[in-house]
Amino acid sequence: MSASVIDFIATEARFGARNYEPIGVVLSRGEGVWVWDTEGNRYLDCLSAYSAVSQGHCHPKILAAMVEQAHRLTLTSRAFHNDQLALFYEEIAALTGSHKVLPMNSGAEAVESAIKSVRKWGYEVKGVPDGQAEIIVCANNFHGRTLAIVGFSTDAETRAHFGPFAPGFKIIPFGDAAALKEAITPNTVAFLVEPIQGEAGVIIPPAGYFTEVRELCTANNVMLVLDEIQTGLGRTGKLLAEQHEGIEADVTLLGKALSGGFYPVSAVLSNNDVLGTLRPGQHGSTFGGNPLACAVARAALRVLVEEGMIENAARQGARFLEGLKDIRANTIREVRGRGLMLAVELHPEAGRARRYCEALQGKGILAKDTHEQTIRIAPPLVITSDEVDWALERLATTLTQDFS
Ligand SMILES: *Cc1c(COP(=O)(O)O)cnc(C)c1O
Repeated sequence: MSASVIDFIATEARFGARNYEPIGVVLSRGEGVWVWDTEGNRYLDCLSAYSAVSQGHCHPKILAAMVEQAHRLTLTSRAFHNDQLALFYEEIAALTGSHKVLPMNSGAEAVESAIKSVRKWGYEVKGVPDGQAEIIVCANNFHGRTLAIVGFSTDAETRAHFGPFAPGFKIIPFGDAAALKEAITPNTVAFLVEPIQGEAGVIIPPAGYFTEVRELCTANNVMLVLDEIQTGLGRTGKLLAEQHEGIEADVTLLGKALSGGFYPVSAVLSNNDVLGTLRPGQHGSTFGGNPLACAVARAALRVLVEEGMIENAARQGARFLEGLKDIRANTIREVRGRGLMLAVELHPEAGRARRYCEALQGKGILAKDTHEQTIRIAPPLVITSDEVDWALERLATTLTQDFS
């Protein structure tokens, strides 16, 4: 390790809040599925910044849109109109079939905005008594890090010593439609759920779950809010993960890949009157909907479609999953995934997933462990068959090692 590598890591540790525990690599450049560290070593990025860099690192067309827009106009605030927001609305609405759009920045902000909007809808449209709105969420959810959101997390570490928390949330098991039916009351305004639980370790619900969920929500006038911040925009091999289930959410949350990793851009999409309840002055964001964000998001959506990234995610995801299933290693408990949202769960006796991720780093692959025993694999959607095979070879040799 050169002095500069030690220095970056040590300096971060000295000055930074220690809210992350990064793998020991200092990255300085990225292109497509590849990233390079400060010493020039190349790695295949199998995390894609938690699926934000789906279009590949530094995509030239998104870069060009960003630079061009940055030269013209970056921020107006919503106190004035700008000449990018309307175009962003039009294009994202056409692509997703949504009627209304609320632009925000981070994913957590989109979730918070949806919570505010469905509560308001509950009081003003559904007729829930003031202050009584209930939102149902799932155990092992991940929706972000703000106070309201961590308040309904079931992960002890996520919540500990951050309370008191906001009331009005009810937690049920994921993948259990009967539990949802049981939990709905006349005051339930929404069911907030991830189509596939990403941070929980790529947990795919049983077939038919979302059909039942959709029926229950419709029958009880409950808004189905799908958090597609990680699953959306091609990651699972469809534009939206809901398409695998043949359903439509009432409210869809997007973030992460909405900017191709260039800039924080998120959005709340609704195909009903949930967003229609917001009036001037009732919600906002200084940066939300700014022209730079809109130009970047427009380019990020355009390349996703024009360059066939969604179809590629389906094709390469199937190849990757099949390849992982073919690896014969005692360390592997289960392999699962949909599109390029994949995970290898290790047997508890195999040792911590973190150790395997460090070994993979030595072989030129950056992947991230989650929940001790699971290695998550989510490369950019531009990955080729040769690159998938290259990754599989290295995964096979690493997973047959024993780090217990
Ligand atoms: C990442 C993520 C979020 C939060 O997004 P941030 O931009 O980190 O605030 C919310 N929901 C899901 C499903 C996510 O994966």
